[in-house]
Amino acid sequence: MPLGYKKDGNKKTIIDETTKPVIERIFTMYLEGKSFQQISNIFNEEELLKPKKWKDTTIQKIIDNKIYMGDYEQFKRIAKNKQIEPVVYMNVVEPIISRAVWEECQHQKEKNQRTYTRDRVYLFFQKIKCPTCSRIMKCKGSGGKKKKYMYYNCEKCHLNFREDKIEELLTSFIYDMVEYDMAVKKYFLPILADNKPTKTDDIDKEIKGLEKQKERIKKAYMSGIVEMEDFSADYKLIEDKLEILKQKKNEILDLDSITFNPQQLMADRDIERETMIRLDTLNSVVKSNWENKSKEEKQEFISKLVESINITQDSNKVLHLEKINFRKIFVDMLAKLLDKGIFEVMIPCEINGKEDVILGTPNISDKQVQDYLDRLNEYYETKLYLLYEENDGNGEFIPKKDEQVIKILPISSQSSTTKSPIDKEDNYIQYGIVTYNPNKTKARVLNGECDYATS
Ligand SMILES: [Zn+2]
Repeated sequence: MPLGYKKDGNKKTIIDETTKPVIERIFTMYLEGKSFQQISNIFNEEELLKPKKWKDTTIQKIIDNKIYMGDYEQFKRIAKNKQIEPVVYMNVVEPIISRAVWEECQHQKEKNQRTYTRDRVYLFFQKIKCPTCSRIMKCKGSGGKKKKYMYYNCEKCHLNFREDKIEELLTSFIYDMVEYDMAVKKYFLPILADNKPTKTDDIDKEIKGLEKQKERIKKAYMSGIVEMEDFSADYKLIEDKLEILKQKKNEILDLDSITFNPQQLMADRDIERETMIRLDTLNSVVKSNWENKSKEEKQEFISKLVESINITQDSNKVLHLEKINFRKIFVDMLAKLLDKGIFEVMIPCEINGKEDVILGTPNISDKQVQDYLDRLNEYYETKLYLLYEENDGNGEFIPKKDEQVIKILPISSQSSTTKSPIDKEDNYIQYGIVTYNPNKTKARVLNGECDYATS
């Protein structure tokens, strides 16, 4: 039985909740850029699932095994030419990881086979594309007594890009991603969680089984059947598994007890963000979040989000960012948020003659607007202005002196109950512009500590 699965009473292959987290971790760590060897070293150090010994090949086999996305692959010998060919049966067991993640990992493996340099940690490991031949550039560190630089190099085209220059070039993009990541971690995780049935029956059953097992080996030890050494190893393994299961059960129960509404979460995030902007701490909080990461953490962060980066160099050897390709799993996450009316776009606009950028959302319904405003009103005195903009024209909005624009909400016209002053139904976009009075925030925000930084 592959790790992460077990047989139930009816010989059906089901997920083993005690070892499932190990599988999830292996795939995550691999996507973060760790090698098979590095992952097995970490697990041996942690004595994970002791007495199991982890080898790089163990990890590789797990990454390669299609079972983790639900498919069963069988190798059949074709009688005539004695060739062995794989036959794949799709969706035969419950998957532990998504198809997208499995495929990302295979993709990562191909890259790793092509360029393998891992003597140091490189921020953009396997990410920078050569502008001339579009191969992934190799990582290199320059030695010698001089100041050491890290490079990304294409041997074929004789091109070198310095890592610190690339990081500099990508700073504002990285800060946007860091801010986004912080918001997701703090507010939007419940939206991204899989909507699996949150029953604890299976886990309860498993806990019961393990407790019985514990009793059994205790008895075996007491009656002298089992040696002390074997007993304590087995006993500890069961205890560890029980611990994981109990934690898991608590998590499920916790998640169940939280009722949340995406628009309320969005309002909470906006209130905090607005507070930080007013106190002028947003940029420094984001900056220090990035700078306090270790180099490994930075590399993992980039690796998880980014598939590849296209950079060019002009005749003055100045680098230019051409394109960032995101990983599919990241794009899927954005799509999920978009679906709930959360994903935001920066809308450039002119406010009081000053160019500005305001967060906007994709079209949301009247009801969603109301949920958002209700929450915001607990902290601010808000006003909602409706603006109708013809598709090709420019809408104009001038906030009053004591008003601050916090959000632009394109309201979907199908769901809208408000009458449009423009007859041509299809030819306008309805915007809700939400403002608040920064001098009249309600007590909680004024006294409230901004805990963005500590989370
Ligand atoms: Zn090249």
